[in-house]
Amino acid sequence: MQPIVNKEICIGCGTCEGICPEVFKIVDGKSEVQKMADYTAYADKIKQAVEACPVQCISIEE
Ligand code: SF4
Repeated sequence: MQPIVNKEICIGCGTCEGICPEVFKIVDGKSEVQKMADYTAYADKIKQAVEACPVQCISIEE
């Protein structure tokens, strides 16, 4: 799995970082996906972040 943030839409609210700081980090007011070889260890938290994002700009590519 590969989480993707659409930075055009992200408002930098920090919700995703609050849920899964290992994967999402706010940089210059936008959420940035941290690079890692395997995201599956954080799959549940990533899915929570997808659902919690107020502007629905996080998606997951399988
Ligand atoms: S929850 Fe959504 S809008 Fe908020 S910082 Fe994360 S990606 Fe951006």
